[in-house]
Amino acid sequence: MSVKTFSAFIVEEKEPKNFSMKVGTRSVQDLPIGELLVKVHYSSLNYKDALSATGQFGITKKYPHTPGIDAAGEVVESAVSAFKPGDKVIVTSYDLGMDTPGAFGQYIRVPSAWALPLPEGLSLKESMILGTAGLTAGMMIRKLIGNGVKPEEGDILVTGATGGVGSIAVAILAKLGFQVVAATGKASEKGFLTGLGASRIIGREEVLAGLDQPLMEERWSGVVDVVGGDMLAAAIKSTRYNGSVACCGLVGSLELPLNVLPFILRGVSLLGVDSVQCPMGPRKLAWEKLAGEWKPNHLESISMECTLKNLEQEIHAILKGALRGRIVINLL
Ligand code: NDP
Repeated sequence: MSVKTFSAFIVEEKEPKNFSMKVGTRSVQDLPIGELLVKVHYSSLNYKDALSATGQFGITKKYPHTPGIDAAGEVVESAVSAFKPGDKVIVTSYDLGMDTPGAFGQYIRVPSAWALPLPEGLSLKESMILGTAGLTAGMMIRKLIGNGVKPEEGDILVTGATGGVGSIAVAILAKLGFQVVAATGKASEKGFLTGLGASRIIGREEVLAGLDQPLMEERWSGVVDVVGGDMLAAAIKSTRYNGSVACCGLVGSLELPLNVLPFILRGVSLLGVDSVQCPMGPRKLAWEKLAGEWKPNHLESISMECTLKNLEQEIHAILKGALRGRIVINLL
């Protein structure tokens, strides 16, 4: 290995709770112990990266730190027979980018158990347009379908629809033949959501109307929710008899102000999704689906590319809920 140093996005905590970001140089030698050294070609920006970069929720405990929970690249060194130099791999979640230096740097060193061979049907860049957001959207949709949600049973709601998880969920569900109702705070993005295949676009307030009632009019056969809080409560209260709601996020709130009536009078199911500790078996299956029959059409149109240099502005934008689709970071 001839490369000794590399460029990385570095978050520092110079004073307690005061975080700053810069692009700097890190040493390969300082990377943690692990069986695989991977040269990162592309990463992507997830909401959790922005929380790590701004010191929120204790997601990262040790600074200085390089965030980045998603990596796609090439194996440079391998201590195991399952991978050899030159292999293309995806590494997402586990502890990558949390307290393990992440993919906002040109090299990562990780346990081989975290790596997945790049599935046929995806380029390294496409795998990062999907990234953790795509994996999570896929897992939510798998759970909903596994719980009996079918296209012929009526409208399915996606909240936070222009965001990373939301936009990919809209695209996959539309491809699978669902009537997707996309809830967004961005009236200006109707064209984007229609392009992804949404049948109808509604404002957040339309989901929330009637929230003060113990139950709301039955509207959704299924729900993909990334928002939490009132939005998730309203979605559950307006889910139809025997419908299912998949929840993964907290961009609105981590609280859930709700009563038990949707569960005990309508048989509604609330399905939690965690992509971080998802075991390798189901993770592989989800990626195969994402690379094959679920691969969203026009994947490139969901993403914008940036470099480490303009990443800070995108981190501030994702925290404001202002991004559209996925930000892919080119580290080449
Ligand atoms: P994004 O920021 O890309 O998308 C979130 C979208 O939610 C925004 O674009 C916006 O869409 C909407 N939104 C933002 N703020 C609010 C608000 N206050 N009230 C209502 N809607 C809001 O984030 P991601 O898609 O990357 O992640 C979404 C959530 O899912 C995060 O909480 C993240 O931590 C979580 N997540 C969880 C995973 C798991 O394994 N459990 C894995 C991946 C993500 P619009 O303007 O269209 O309404």
